[in-house]
Amino acid sequence: MPRADGPEVNPPRECNIAVVGAGILGLAVARELALRHPGGAVAVLEREPRIASHQTDHSSGVIHAGIYYRPGSLKAELCVAGARALYQYCAERGIRTERSGKVIVATEEREIAGLEELERRGSANGVPGLRRIGPDELREIEPHARGIAALHSPATGVVDFSEVARALAADLALGGGTVSTGCRVHATSAAGERITISHAGGETSARAAVLCAGAWSDRLAVAAGASPDPRIVPFRGAYLRLRPERRELVRTSIYPVPDPDLPFLGMHFTRDLEGDVQLGPSALMVGARDAYRLGRVRPRDLADTLAWPGTWRLARRHWRTGLDELRHGISRRSFVSELRRFVPELTRADVVAGNSGVRAQAVGRDGSLIDDFVVSRTERALHVRNAPSPAATSALALAGRIADMLEEDPGLS
Ligand SMILES: Cc1cc2nc3c(=O)[nH]c(=O)nc-3n(C[C@H](O)[C@H](O)[C@H](O)COP(=O)(O)OP(=O)(O)OC[C@H]3O[C@@H](n4cnc5c(N)ncnc54)[C@H](O)[C@@H]3O)c2cc1C
Repeated sequence: MPRADGPEVNPPRECNIAVVGAGILGLAVARELALRHPGGAVAVLEREPRIASHQTDHSSGVIHAGIYYRPGSLKAELCVAGARALYQYCAERGIRTERSGKVIVATEEREIAGLEELERRGSANGVPGLRRIGPDELREIEPHARGIAALHSPATGVVDFSEVARALAADLALGGGTVSTGCRVHATSAAGERITISHAGGETSARAAVLCAGAWSDRLAVAAGASPDPRIVPFRGAYLRLRPERRELVRTSIYPVPDPDLPFLGMHFTRDLEGDVQLGPSALMVGARDAYRLGRVRPRDLADTLAWPGTWRLARRHWRTGLDELRHGISRRSFVSELRRFVPELTRADVVAGNSGVRAQAVGRDGSLIDDFVVSRTERALHVRNAPSPAATSALALAGRIADMLEEDPGLS
């Protein structure tokens, strides 16, 4: 098999549970199952030569505290529980985290209602330490930030999610599980009490499968007989970085008050574990599910996006925001001027190009952006159909929920 970051093994011909996708979520699910059923033969199949090479390795690295999400939603419950579990896991495994905190800043009067709603949601969700602060206290936390009011979340932190993924893979190996990289899954077919997974290395027969395929999750679900709704539409997020000599402009993390209709938008400042300050990300609909380069287009990905009625409905509804995002995506001037609302001293000379990531965003046929985590079922398989941010933060808790679903379903357990 090609080189791997995790264990390098040939895929087994038979196993108990097959997990497709070695992002943080697939690895967390596999580890959880291996812990619950020692010796239970869990096999992870990953298409890339390296684990965690898509969303997990291209995130902002923020351990979210659970502020934004509608109380009662899976995100609300699993982000708060997931962040707690993640801090504890990292402490046990010697993985560095920093509870650096963050401020969500309103710069205009019309954003105050949004800030109040976030405060209400955060307290309903049980976010630890969340509180409203005024401009003076904001300046004490972030001397270069400006705003008329803010929320301070001391429990928000940063971590390297790829390091967490590697630790999860190592735990899985200790529990007898395997990760096969370079093993792209083409399809699954269920018959009787088994499911057969066809992949680049041949076939694996399992009692059940859990598919955590991120940007490609809809294709595998549809191939297994699930509804084509929702479809994954890729949004590229590009970052800038502060020049090292200007890092003092941001001490922790500074976030905007999000638009409730488009909660995943909103460029922010995040100081990572190395002290590097990332600005962004922008959000631009792109023509490839791995468009880390802006110009990358894959005909099949583009055709899937354009053929989906939801894409056009989404575009009709939010064309104005789409144009703003296009500007931020292609113009550094526009990118910086949006962020200058929060840090007025910021200039174009302070930033250099940063990384980029591609969000696997599920879009409904009706044009809705699916917000909550979605896990659906086909014969002998569970499919994670939507796991956008904060799924990296929530991975351990979401994995527990998926393992429960597997055990409680007589058709799967
Ligand atoms: C720009 C950006 C910033 C983000 N910031 C944050 C943040 O700060 N905090 C946070 O909590 N979340 C953040 N997120 C979200 C977070 O990264 C994702 O929610 C999380 O990584 C999802 O994990 P995953 O394992 O489902 O997906 P992925 O990491 O994308 O993993 C899916 C895996 O499935 C594999 N796969 C796909 N198809 C196949 C196939 N056919 N056969 C075999 N393998 C397959 C892929 O190669 C990949 O390794 C961010 C996301 C982006 C894009």
